[in-house]
Amino acid sequence: VTSTSDRGLLVALSEELSRLFDVALAVEPPAGVNDAWARLLHEYGVPPVSDATRAERRKALNLARGALPEEVRAVVHAIAHRFARAVGDQSLVEAATSTWQQTESQYLQHATHRPKSMFAFAIASAKAPAWQRPPGGFVARCTECGGPRLDAGGSLRCAFCGTGTLQT
Ligand SMILES: [Zn+2]
Repeated sequence: VTSTSDRGLLVALSEELSRLFDVALAVEPPAGVNDAWARLLHEYGVPPVSDATRAERRKALNLARGALPEEVRAVVHAIAHRFARAVGDQSLVEAATSTWQQTESQYLQHATHRPKSMFAFAIASAKAPAWQRPPGGFVARCTECGGPRLDAGGSLRCAFCGTGTLQT
């Protein structure tokens, strides 16, 4: 379905999204900017939001961790543009666009997740369950084309090649 060079680009896309999740979700305090995040923003030419907006959004979103979603979204768009420029195939660009949308909802899910019934659990074990990065990372790759797969269940068809299974 895709050429070897397309596969290389798709693998690079998966890896870049993976890096984005890793760096963005490691930002402390929530909705802040740490050194790694500042570097990634700079790398993609994304200006951080203003202090006033940051304070306002921090209050509104109640993130448990991670960078502000609007900053993540801006980086995702920059990654999309880079991918679109590199790949000539319109259908791949469309697939990338749908992946960005998934990325956003998936990111918010991670960034706002708080372990449930922490109190009861803490009493039982004297140790609260911690939020953890999935062992395989946040972004899996399609075994067929190397494209990013964000659906954890792996039941959806790959947006890039239409087939493929999940590589975990
Ligand atoms: Zn695929």
